[in-house]
Amino acid sequence: MPTVAAYTATSPTAPLTPGTVERREVGPKDVLIDIAYAGVCHSDIHTVRGDWGEVPYPLTVGHEIAGVVARVGEEVTAHKVGDRVGVGCMVDSCRECANCLAGAEQYCLRGFTDTYNGTDRDGTTTQGGYSTGIVVDEHFVLRIPDTIPFEKAAPLLCAGITTYSPLRNWNAGPGTKVAVVGLGGLGHMAVKIAHALGAEVTVLSQSLKKREDGLRFGADHYHATADPATFEQLAGAFDLIVNTVSAPIDLDAYLNLLALDGTIVSVGAPPEPVSVTLFTLFENRRSFAGSKIGGIAQTQEMLDFCAEHGIAPEVEVIAADEVNDAWERVLASDVRYRFVIDTSTLGGS
Ligand SMILES: [Zn+2]
Ligand SMILES: [Zn+2]
Repeated sequence: MPTVAAYTATSPTAPLTPGTVERREVGPKDVLIDIAYAGVCHSDIHTVRGDWGEVPYPLTVGHEIAGVVARVGEEVTAHKVGDRVGVGCMVDSCRECANCLAGAEQYCLRGFTDTYNGTDRDGTTTQGGYSTGIVVDEHFVLRIPDTIPFEKAAPLLCAGITTYSPLRNWNAGPGTKVAVVGLGGLGHMAVKIAHALGAEVTVLSQSLKKREDGLRFGADHYHATADPATFEQLAGAFDLIVNTVSAPIDLDAYLNLLALDGTIVSVGAPPEPVSVTLFTLFENRRSFAGSKIGGIAQTQEMLDFCAEHGIAPEVEVIAADEVNDAWERVLASDVRYRFVIDTSTLGGS
């Protein structure tokens, strides 16, 4: 079995340390990827720290993976050695259920296999991208267009698709007014993508601290949610609100900002249940929805769209031994806008 270098969690509280991960042998439909960069997602931290339930240690996280195909199984047709490729949050699904057949593998009725901390088809726990190599079924391997550098492609595989999918599914485009709540890793991609889709884009952020960035990313307007006047001024203004914030928000206050048939879609989630006054939904025939990453075909569409429109995340490249500090900065919302690990700093595979 191929063994690769990794940066690994050994407990919910200890810092990540250098380790190794065993990958499965390359099967007939598998692709072995030499990982070049791996993005740091807030989910990595939640998972390791046990916020979402117990996890088996040692665990290697990371589901924003970009690199080069190093080997392919004999039945692989979609990729060849040397191709630039990526892997996001999923490495498998049943591929037979109605949702899989509809291209919505993230809603596989039998449950998709997470890139890390999932149960693989051989019963082992999947290990993620903070490592130098990974073996993945070709169906879950995406093509990275030549014009997107690897370090900028990696965050598209989670932050990019998580925001692209609701913007596309709720038809953001010319003539629509879109608000993005929160300007972090997800929010800054939502702004860039919504702008490229042709929508009129407003950022709703706690303060005006990142206003210049927001406007540079393509926002037309920028408002502070700490200012109560914002909610009066923008009442009924938006067709679509994409909420990227995982802290609890006053949902009724945001629903009031929706125009006729408007929808607020949450892609960030607080651990506690949220409450909503249904009368706020009745008004303007509003909807409250959720969205989870995106299917494989739509993820490819997103990568091609980003290449075509020249958009990519803002990244800060770090060495593996800077990951623990980077996690603290993610928790403190002190990142503009995504950390990406240069996996060549992990040591030999
Ligand atoms: Zn993620
Ligand atoms: Zn399925």
